[in-house]
Amino acid sequence: MDCIFCKIANGEIPSAKVYEDELCLAFKDIEPAAPVHILVVPKAHCASVLEADEAVLGHLMAVAAKVARENGVAEAGFRCVVNTGADGGQSVPHLHVHVLGGRSLAWPPG
Ligand code: 5GP
Ligand code: ZN
Repeated sequence: MDCIFCKIANGEIPSAKVYEDELCLAFKDIEPAAPVHILVVPKAHCASVLEADEAVLGHLMAVAAKVARENGVAEAGFRCVVNTGADGGQSVPHLHVHVLGGRSLAWPPG
């Protein structure tokens, strides 16, 4: 399948990996929107949260918390974002959790 995050997950496209286990991979976003901007993706292709397995979703959130801690933003605070579909601003159709931190983040989003 011609999916950029599948290619990152199988090593075909390089990434700045920060965490990996049997179910998922976390790597730095190529266009960081904050000092810490990490993407957590399942290794198995899944288009969005609408199609995701409950156990995978739970695991992605647990890993998001882990990478936040390991990258030094847990104490000050951070944000996990799952953009979904056109109105949600999803540009890559492979489920991913953004972990954003390292500065004060505005709310609500635009
Ligand atoms: P979305 O807009 O779908 O919520 O988020 C997709 C994210 O993937 C964007 O923040 C974008 O910068 C990031 N991205 C797109 N292509 C690549 C890539 O090849 N490598 C990395 N590391 N990030 C990417
Ligand atoms: Zn994929």
